[in-house]
Amino acid sequence: DELVSQIAAGEVVERPASVVRELVDNALDAGARQVTVRLLAGGVRLVSVEDDGQGIPREELPIALRRHATSKIGSLSDLESVATMGFRGEALAAIASVSELSIASRTEGQSSAFLLDARSGELRPAARATGTTVEVKELFFSTPARRKFLKTDATELAHCIEAVRRHALARPDVGFAIWHEGKLAEQWRAATPDQRLADVLGDDFLEQSVAVEHVHGPLQVRGRAGVPDVARSRADQQFAYVNGRYVRDKVLTHAARSAYEDVLHGQRQPVYALYVDIDPTRVDVNVHPTKIEVRFRDSREVHQAVRRALEAALAAPRA
Ligand code: ADP
Ligand code: MG
Repeated sequence: DELVSQIAAGEVVERPASVVRELVDNALDAGARQVTVRLLAGGVRLVSVEDDGQGIPREELPIALRRHATSKIGSLSDLESVATMGFRGEALAAIASVSELSIASRTEGQSSAFLLDARSGELRPAARATGTTVEVKELFFSTPARRKFLKTDATELAHCIEAVRRHALARPDVGFAIWHEGKLAEQWRAATPDQRLADVLGDDFLEQSVAVEHVHGPLQVRGRAGVPDVARSRADQQFAYVNGRYVRDKVLTHAARSAYEDVLHGQRQPVYALYVDIDPTRVDVNVHPTKIEVRFRDSREVHQAVRRALEAALAAPRA
């Protein structure tokens, strides 16, 4: 029901960047090779995410908007080992309850695309290639109290770009483009992992960082960590991923900070992109609606692995 959906939406959708995050998650889950984000007014007036993924069959379009409708989890036990970005079946329903949402999609076998308007429920043929475009207009138009909390367009745009940046660092094999008010704001072409790091974090990042490579049984820590040869005061350059999912996690942050303090004696702003791969049954991603937090079954094991991986990389003589 409407009210329940709007309350649930509050947990998933805080600002345009939350919409961007969820829609790009869905595009990647659908196997997209190219994801194009179009924004108006920092995403408040429009967030549109277009992908070339597998598409949604006509008869499944209305189902995709239902609460707890997900095509990604077959049973409760699947929750133990989630491989896709989405799995709660909440995002589209939540976003649709606080915006004007439409989905246009076409699967490989279909002779035409179909467009579903969430508000009216109208489903009609449309024109597009295989893939999906979700358009979200006038976010929070019916909940002015929430709209009031949004910042300037420039700030909301920055958050939207940051949301795509997080995905871009996780998926160098996928191309991303962000348009704002009809102008190209960022573009990252499909690339090798190192090239993508350079494209997203700056060309100098590769020269000013060391490779992190640590395989500890089923637990792997890979990535690159910046060394403080040149003053780097840019904040928010700490990217951590668990099984491909961007996370903000105290265990990882603390492990990284400890390593920097041990080896480099108090480098304040560590810069890194770290990719932790762990047996999915040893991490719970169903902790928070936005899936940005995780809970490790054995956080000491993860802390040690990350700390050691970083210490080894930072302490090694540089070529
Ligand atoms: P979840 O991602 O947790 O399954 P969502 O509410 O984000 O839930 O999406 C609901 C369903 O809609 C998905 O399970 C998927 O089947 C379908 N879907 C949404 N976006 C796309 C997309 N871009 N391409 C293909 N299918 C999609
Ligand atoms: Mg989703």
